[in-house]
Formats: sequence, C-alpha cells, structure tokens
Amino acid sequence: MASFNRRMLFLVIFTASVFCFWANPSVAELPRLKQPAKAGDSLSFLVVGDWGRKGEYNQSLVAKQMGIVGKKLNLDFVISTGDNFYEDGLKGVDDPAFYESFVDIYTAPSLQKQWYIVLGNHDYRGDVEAQLSPILKGKDSRWICFRSFILNSGTVDFFFVDTTPFVDEYFTNPGNSTYDWKGILPRQAYLSQLLKDVDSALKQSKAKWKLVVGHHTIKSAGTHGNTVELEEQLLPILKANDVDAYINGHDHCLEQIIDSESGIQFLTSGGGSKAWRDNVKPWNKEELKLYYDGQGFMSVQITETKVDLVFYDVEGNVLHKWSITKDLNAAA
Ligand SMILES: [Zn+2]
Repeated sequence: MASFNRRMLFLVIFTASVFCFWANPSVAELPRLKQPAKAGDSLSFLVVGDWGRKGEYNQSLVAKQMGIVGKKLNLDFVISTGDNFYEDGLKGVDDPAFYESFVDIYTAPSLQKQWYIVLGNHDYRGDVEAQLSPILKGKDSRWICFRSFILNSGTVDFFFVDTTPFVDEYFTNPGNSTYDWKGILPRQAYLSQLLKDVDSALKQSKAKWKLVVGHHTIKSAGTHGNTVELEEQLLPILKANDVDAYINGHDHCLEQIIDSESGIQFLTSGGGSKAWRDNVKPWNKEELKLYYDGQGFMSVQITETKVDLVFYDVEGNVLHKWSITKDLNAAA
C-alpha cells in the first residue's frame, strides 16, 4: 500500500510538472548551448541585423562582403540580431522566404557556420513558432533560433534575450500589424520569469566576457532611440552583473555607444539591408564613438584579454575599429 501511495505521489508530481511546463514553457531554464573556441580560446564572429529582404536593399551586397571578411577572420559563427524576415516574419515552415532571404543569400563558404539568431518585432508579425521550429534546421543546418538562450564559447558567455515582448506599444497600439503572442501570455509572468532567468544565468557565469544580445536598442541615437522598457527592466540587470556589451539591431545603422556611467558598450548592427539615412539624434560625443546611417555589419574577435570590434560598410570598407582590453587577473 505504501509503495502504491508513493507511486501515486510520483505520478501526481510528474503530471503537475509536465502540466506546468506545458502551461508556461518559460518555467524551464534557458536553453544552454556550447560551441568550442579555436586554439588559445580565440573566437571570431560577425553580427548582422535587420536583413531579410530577398536580397533587395543591398542585402546581397552586404552578404557578399560578410563572406569576404568572414574568410579573412576564419569565422566561428554568425549572430543575427533579428528582424530576420520582412515585413511580417515567416508565414510558416514552408515559406519560400527562408530560402530567398537566408539560404540563397548567405552562400559564401565562410558563412557556412552556425548562425545564432534572435527574433525581432517584424518576426513576431508572422508565425514565430515556424522560426523556432527544428524543421528549419533540417532545411539549413546553420539555423539556430530560440526566443532566449545562452551560448558558451571559450572565455565568452552570450545571453540572447527575446526583447520584443517587452515593448508596450506592440500590445497597446499595434496599428495594422498582428503579433503572434502564442507562448508569451500572460505577458507579465513571461517577462518576470525571463528577467529572473537572465539574472541568475549572469550571476552563475564565470566567463571572462559576458555579452548580451537582443533585437531592440537599449541606448541608441538612431530613429527608434532608446527602448524605455529595456532601460527600466533589463539594463539594471546588465549593470549589476558587469556585462561587457549589449549587442542589438532594430535601428538600421551601425553604432557604438560607451555608457560613461557603467562602461557598458552598446553596439548596434542593424544594417543588413534597408538603412535609414540622416536620422540621428543628438548624443554626448564622449559616448557616441560611431554612428553610421548606411548598410553594413560588424565583426568581433575575442581572446581572453582583448575584444576587437570592426564595423564595415556595404563595400567592405572599414568604417571604425575599437579594442577593449581586460587584465588577465581581473575578476570575471
Ligand atoms: Zn526591429
């Protein structure tokens, strides 16, 4: 009898936990991925954002230059900061846009590496679960997309954060757009669990470098400017955990801001296709190291003690370089 009760208890707990997971998938910890670094723990990757336009608006030209730079740097992987498919994400797993905007565009041999991808607001206007589906990975094995996840590679931990559900406007004033909030609601529970998960993952991290990636800006002099919801909710967590940089897209430009108070680098790489000319807000010149209102992308090379950032335009010309160094003995 006692063993029957134990079996029943186990069954109840098991059923309850399955139900909790099913009812609120965010209860689970963030997925953790690992990619080995090169010898000596060095790492190189490209960052591109706001790109999926079937090759138009110079997407193909940016892709070509990414291929050339990628070869020089012997890339480990590529990061996409979101808005992967314009205007309204993917219609489903069989949407030909997956080939027209991704598979058939980034064809250079050097870009045949893993792509670590977050979703942007335009992706949320389509079938979000299609972009998250393993079926896409079956069509092109480079494709790795989760809402939020952690990637460890050598001395670096990356924290990919799903930023679209933070933005009030998409809920209160969506205009003619329809957003796919399946898996997000109830919204406050989703956001507070996500913030908790990111905070505890950052606290656990022993990595020398901590980089956070999201679609939306936190600090930007571009058209969209700062995202107030992220400044209020995510930024304090980044500051409390000594994050080195926050990397985003959303503003269609290339940009580097170093926050004078926290020292955090705010890096925008949103020039994957259509760019917005002449739309820059005034910003403290000490902080704004680069603002380029054209198309392009960014490369990052990291060793245990140094990060090298390079920004490129649509022709592959170097627009701007920056190095960040860290004492080998300094606390991570
Ligand atoms: Zn966007």
